[in-house]
Formats: sequence, C-alpha cells, structure tokens
Amino acid sequence: MKHLSPKSSCFIFFGIAILLFNYPSYSQKYSGTWKAGVKKVEITPEGSIWMGGYAARKKPSEGVRHSVYAKALAIEDPNGNLAVVVTADLLAFRKFLSDKIRDQLKAKYGLTREQIILNSSHTHTGPETDHPRFQFQLSKKEHNKIQNFADRVEREIVELVGQALTSLEPVTLSSENGLTRFQVNRRNNKEAQINAQTELKGPNDYAVPVIKVEDPKGNLKAILFGYACHPTVLSDYQISGDYAGFAQIELEKLYPGTTALFFQGAGADQNPLPRRSVPLAQQYGKELAAAVERVLNEDMNVLEGTLSTAYSEIDLTFAKAVPTKSELEDIISGVIPGYPDYLKEYAKIWISRLDKGEKIKDSYPYPVQAWKIGNQAIFALGGELLVGYSLELKKIFGPDIIVMGYSNDVMGYIPTKIVLSEGGYEANRSPLFTTQWAASIEDNILSEATRLAESIGIKTVEYPLIAP
Ligand SMILES: [Zn+2]
Repeated sequence: MKHLSPKSSCFIFFGIAILLFNYPSYSQKYSGTWKAGVKKVEITPEGSIWMGGYAARKKPSEGVRHSVYAKALAIEDPNGNLAVVVTADLLAFRKFLSDKIRDQLKAKYGLTREQIILNSSHTHTGPETDHPRFQFQLSKKEHNKIQNFADRVEREIVELVGQALTSLEPVTLSSENGLTRFQVNRRNNKEAQINAQTELKGPNDYAVPVIKVEDPKGNLKAILFGYACHPTVLSDYQISGDYAGFAQIELEKLYPGTTALFFQGAGADQNPLPRRSVPLAQQYGKELAAAVERVLNEDMNVLEGTLSTAYSEIDLTFAKAVPTKSELEDIISGVIPGYPDYLKEYAKIWISRLDKGEKIKDSYPYPVQAWKIGNQAIFALGGELLVGYSLELKKIFGPDIIVMGYSNDVMGYIPTKIVLSEGGYEANRSPLFTTQWAASIEDNILSEATRLAESIGIKTVEYPLIAP
C-alpha cells in the first residue's frame, strides 16, 4: 500500500468503502495497517580479530563457529510514525559507535534518537569494536583490525537500516511474553557449587518477550525476541553469537524465510549455568527458540496501529569525585592496590586524555527510551542493566512490558540500589572505574523511564495481588 496524499484520499474514499463492505474480515484485521521492513547483513570478520567480552583474553580469534549478523526491523504505523530496532551479535554498542551510527541515520533518513534502538546481544565470542579501549594494550596491527571492523559495522548498519526502510510492506504485529529458565542469578549463586539439585536464588526475570511480524497472507516475516542473560556459555576463540546466535539460527531454520532478531534484556547479573560447552550453548539456543515457538503457536496480542516513541539522556553522577592524574598513576603502579590489569589499561587511557587537555566528567549521559507499539510498552535502557530494573519496571507498568538493556550505549554496569549497597563486581563497574555510581542511580533511571512512558501514554498498573 502506498501513502495517500490528502488530495487523493477523498477521491478514492468511495472505492475504499466498497472494499471494506465486501471484505469485512480483511478490513477488520488489517485496517490501519502497519508496515514493516526487515533486513539482515552478515558481519562475520574476515580473518582473525580480537574478541569482545573477557578481559583475560590473550590472543585474537582462531576461527568462526557460525556467522554473525546485524539485523534491522523498521515499523511504520498508518500515520507514518516510524521506528527502527537494530540488533547485532556484538558485545556492545559503545557511545562512540552508537552516536556515529545514529548521527548518520539522522542525516541520511531523518531518523531521530527516539526512533532508533541499537541493541547488542552481548555475545562474549563476538568480534570486538571498542578500539579506544585497546589503544595501549594491543599491537598497532591488532588495534587497526578492531578499528576497521568498527568502521565496517557502522557502514553496514547505516546501509541495512536504509534497506529496511525501503522495503516497508503491510504487516500485522503481535506481541506476547513466553518464558524459559536457563538464566541463573550469578551474584547470589556459586557457579562451582551448582548441580541439578541445587535450589537457586533469584532475583530473575525468565520472560521471553516476542514480537511477531506477519505479512497479510499470514506468512511469518520477522520475529523480534529477547532474553535477559549473559551470552557467556562459550569462552573460546571461535566467533559466534553464543546461545543467542544458536537461538536465531534455530528459529530461522524452523521458519524458513523469516528473520529472527535477538535482543538482550536486563541480563547483567544473569549467567547461563552450567556453561562452557558448545552443546550447552546449542541447548540454551534451542530452549529459547522453543519458548518463542510456543508463543508463536498460541494466541498473541494483536497490536493496534499506533506508534509513539520517546528518548532522553540523563546525567548520572558518581559516588566519589573523579580521579586525579596522580591517583591514576598510583593505580597503574600499584601504590593504590586492587585494580586488575584491564582497569590499569583504563587508567592509562584516562591519563592520555588528560594529557590532551580533556577533563574527566563528573557525570555520564545515560540513554533512556520508551516505545509504545499499540498497547505494547517497550523500555530500552543503556548499559549492562541488572535484572532488578526489569522487575521494578514491571511492578510499575505490569508484567507484559518488554525491557531491553544494552541499548544505544554500553558504558558499564547499571546496578540497583540493593546491589550498590551489597558491593561486588556489578556494583563497582561504573564507567568511572575508581568509584561506584551515585546511590541515586536507580531512582533517577526509573523516574525518567516513568516520565517518558507517561509522555507517550504508557499506563501504570495497580499490581494485583494473586491469591495462593
Ligand atoms: Zn557483561
């Protein structure tokens, strides 16, 4: 269906009225129809490259387990409101890369920040893109490979979104949450002690959110699905998308011709356990795909043709003052103890920036985003988002909302108030690695998410007490 100009719309009104009269079932299902375009591009690196995810890695990749992709789903409501979600088998979209991509999407296609979600799966066996981080650690040759790959990802994604936008065609959209339970709260359970009889401690969010995109004939065109769990089954030197890669492969096999797009949820404190074998990564991929398959086979919530989007960046502050140059030097030399080698690399990077006249900022611009697709609310938050955020947002907006983490920028861990007070790894990995985030982080993010939600008509719910 083409857009109708105001002039032509009156002229053909009578014709449409006849069509509606003759085909009530079609009009009922597809009146006010959505349009969608979906495209994918393979981004498997050519040859060996440094891999993102584990600080302990000492060498680049040695092969490819399966191809890795970037995928784009563009949707447009009947009023021409447009939004694009991009997913990728990558560790992270860091700010420098995300900003470059989003600036180009604005320049080339007029898309603003609120219309774009860039979500990375957070695979720990994918190619690295964060070349600034490795500037002192790697040889010039390895560093250049990362930089060239990041440039390629930027180019490919900008082109990919353009292709998705030019392939918009009528669709129906439906959503629903399924569930599967291979995520384990890694803060509150000891990996080495877990066996099949262990009683596991939460918190968790086992939701498997699914958005189904069908053409007017009922053919499945795209499946956007997510899960909140680190893709850290694998830690070897073969490029892959980990369990999330296997899940996408499985779904695209189950539904030939369909594009399956995986997004990472609030999985920062969740690990797939047990782990560390390829058959386990395949098992979790199949479990996730089976959870999606179940949702697709049941009645889903058909989404009305209205799209609203909102985005902002809030300045999150830190618990302590920014480090001075001499403090950073003391971290590198070990005078200030407790910093592993990869954080000493960060200290070197900060010193080089200070030497160039840059200042270390005492706050960080954190991206918060909300979409309303029909009655489906989606929150897309930046950083390594802990599961507590998903649980808190679901208390406010109900269990059917979709929460994405790792969206638009990954600058460090995003702990809840409780985790900040408990301490430990996820509490202490702010972008300013010498200090935690300020204790206000959770309140600030949740209140901004709520403000954005209200601005686009997402309703809060009274959380019903369920009788035993
Ligand atoms: Zn992580």
